[in-house]
Order: sequence, then C-alpha cells, then structure tokens
Amino acid sequence: MTTRSNSLQETDIAYQLHPYTNARVHEKQGPMIITKGDGCYVYDSEGKKYLEGLAGLWSVGVGFSQPRLVEAAAKQMAELPYYQNFAHKAHAPGILLSEKLVEITPEHLTKVFYTNSGSEANDTVVKFVWFMNNMLGRPEKKKFLSRNKAYHGITVASGSLTGLPGNQKGFDLPAIPVVHLTCPHYYRWAEDGETEAEFTARLLKEAEETILAEGPETIAAFIGEPVMGAGGVMTPPEGYWPGIEALCRKYDILIVSDEVINGFGRTGKPFGCERYGFKPDILVTSKQLTSSYMPLAAILMTDEVYQVIADYTEQLGTLGHGFTAGGNPVACAVALENIKIIEEQDLMGNVARLEDKFQSGLRKFSDHPMVGEVRGVGLIAGIELVADKATKKSYEPAGYIAATASKLAAEQGLIVRNIYETIGLCPPMIIDEAQIDELLEKLGAALEGLP
Ligand code: PLP
Repeated sequence: MTTRSNSLQETDIAYQLHPYTNARVHEKQGPMIITKGDGCYVYDSEGKKYLEGLAGLWSVGVGFSQPRLVEAAAKQMAELPYYQNFAHKAHAPGILLSEKLVEITPEHLTKVFYTNSGSEANDTVVKFVWFMNNMLGRPEKKKFLSRNKAYHGITVASGSLTGLPGNQKGFDLPAIPVVHLTCPHYYRWAEDGETEAEFTARLLKEAEETILAEGPETIAAFIGEPVMGAGGVMTPPEGYWPGIEALCRKYDILIVSDEVINGFGRTGKPFGCERYGFKPDILVTSKQLTSSYMPLAAILMTDEVYQVIADYTEQLGTLGHGFTAGGNPVACAVALENIKIIEEQDLMGNVARLEDKFQSGLRKFSDHPMVGEVRGVGLIAGIELVADKATKKSYEPAGYIAATASKLAAEQGLIVRNIYETIGLCPPMIIDEAQIDELLEKLGAALEGLP
C-alpha cells in the first residue's frame, strides 16, 4: 500500500526515478516542478517565470502554449485516437505527414518510417542498415562509424553510437560494432598550432585510415549530427562534411544524418545537412517535428535504401520491426499542424534572421575571463567555460562551473543546460529580438556571478 505524501515535491522523491539525475542528490533537494508554459516562458510551482533558453530539451520550436497544436490533438483524439501502421493498416495523419516530410526534406529522400523517440529511430536505423546488408549478401558489412561526444540516444544500439562516457559507463556499452572517431571540434580537439584546415585534413585522414584498417567491407554506415548538440554544441570545421561524404561514397558507406536536434530550421537552413552541404542516405528527425508536444520520430530514406529493404520484406514475408505507437495518429496530426505553423509563421526564416543577433550577442561574452569559446549557428549555441583561457584547462571538479552557471541563470529567470563544461542554448524558434536581449542580459548576469 502507498501513502500519499503531503507535497508534490515529497511525492516525487517518494515515487519517481529521474533520467539524467543523481538519485541521491535528488532525494535531498527534490525536483523543480514546472507547472505552466507561455510562449518562450515557463513557470515553476512557486510562480517564478523563466525564459526557456533550451526550448525544453532542444525541442519546443513553436513555444510552450501553441493552441493550434492542442486543437489538432483534441480533434484527432476525438476522431481516431489510435490506430496501428502494422500489417497494411494506415491512417490519414500518418499518410499526409509522410507526404509532407518527403516534400520538405532534401529531395532525394523519398520514404518515411515512424518511431516514438530519437533513440528508437537510431536503433531502427542500425537494424535497417544491417537488414539491407544481409539482403545485399554482405553480412560482414555491419560496423558503424560515429564520433566522440556524439549523442544518438540511450537504448542499447543508439547508446552504443553515442560517444559520451556518461551514457556508457556502467551499462556495458558500446554493445554493437561501432568505432568512435575524433570529435570534429577545433577548439578542444585540434593539436597545438594546427590550423582549422589542417584539423579537418587530419580528421579525414583518420577516418580513411580507420575505414582501411577495419576493412571497408566491414563498415556499413557513418552516423553524425551535422551540428553536435547534446554533447556540448560543436560545429564542424570547414570542409569536414563534404570530406566525410566523399569518403563514404568512395567506400560504399551509408551516411546517416541525425537531425533530431538540427531538423526544422534550427541551424538556419531547413535541415542541418543542407547547412553543411551533404546528402545523407538516411535522415533522422524528432523533437521539433511535433515541438515535443507528442512523442514522435521519423526516419527518411532514399529510394535506393527503401528498394533493398522492400526486396528483403518480399523474400522474408514481412518487415519484422515496428512499434505499437510508432506514427500514432494524434502525434502525426500534431506534427502536421506544427509544420504548418513553422511554414505560416516562417519560423525557419526567423532563425536565419535572428542568427546574427543571437550568435554575435553571445560572442560578446568571449571577453569574460572564464569563457574559453562561444560557438554555434542558427539558434543553437554553446559557451565553454575554462579555468585558464591560455591553456584551455578545464575547471575542477569536472562539470562544476557550468552547473554553477546554470543555477545562477535559473536564479536570473533563464533556463539553460549545463553539459560538462559547456552552457547549452537552444531557445524556441518563435523567440523575438527583445527576448534575445533578455536572454543575453540574464546570461550575462549569471556569468558575472561566477565565483
Ligand atoms: N539523436 C540526437 C541527435 C539527439 O539529440 C537525441 C536526444 O537528445 C536523440 C537522438 C535521442 O532522442 P530521444 O531522447 O527522443 O530518444
């Protein structure tokens, strides 16, 4: 029998295990409970108002109070709250969303498969790529290339693709064949005296040598976020993506663009692969697809990928893969309306228009004695804090200083994310100039308060 505690905080401590949380610390301090959203703002249970500088989890593009999404969900709930996509069944929102996604993503992507989350989507990609290579009679071509600091999710396969020790320690990951290449982040990973062009050339040389050492016949796919997000917002060096694309084409390796954060305008172009000029064989999107009002992820693939999968389903009798709620009609209806809002309000254009104000405003913090680097494109950015600007030495203990900055920002009424030594920023795409000024002012005050 359970006894109800006398406050939501106590009830939370009593009954909930939180993701990405130190459970023992949580037992002492309890949760910050968010009760209400309004545009770019949220309110906590004490009534304090926060500018949401991370759009929830890099995801609430249209803001926290879009009534059209509520109406779209309610209408679809009333009409057909659930139906499956299994076994030749379909529903209108799923069909129409697929058509729309093919229309707005790069034109060589022609078919869509739905899951509930980015992690499930990347697990599905791993399985589809393996499935394809089995069909093509090359069962040894199964390895993935990923990068240190990549974030592709936390399930067994996607967590293996992820290149962050914190997601792998204690879980016996990676558990699938994956090779993590050097993180394409010039500030942190370049050698002393190396130019950006030399850094790119070294990374491409490393990638090619890895492919040759492992054997191209064993490497199935390269997966990457165009701009790396949850690992600390790292933008790639000049020439990196075209170089990776050329290598993948040379060695018959599929390119997977993980656009779970980058998609739908976040980088100032509709999709991150368009910002960096490469053509993926598979593109994964989630988060801003529904502005996270409903769980949904979509995998887009080329006709070449689809045809091999389709042939194998004919041979085997079925595609033995799918999720009960994958492509749920309510989630698809919300995604359709969300994309309509993004288009009608030209939110992708808003990101492009505000990029300079946002990025140059943040770069003014470069003068701060603890700011090592400010980086980002579009409306996504990272500020890396260091103990010594000349040597780039990180603060001790690890993560402490960015966590402190994040707490100070919250005191100012601004939510940001601390990622190791970096402050991550990714505001809703509906943000306006005055709200960017507010964000910069609050962040500036938080940085000034650092010990
Ligand atoms: N891929 C990328 C690039 C992500 O940023 C994330 C989540 O942040 C994921 C995959 C995993 O998505 P989910 O948390 O929906 O499983």
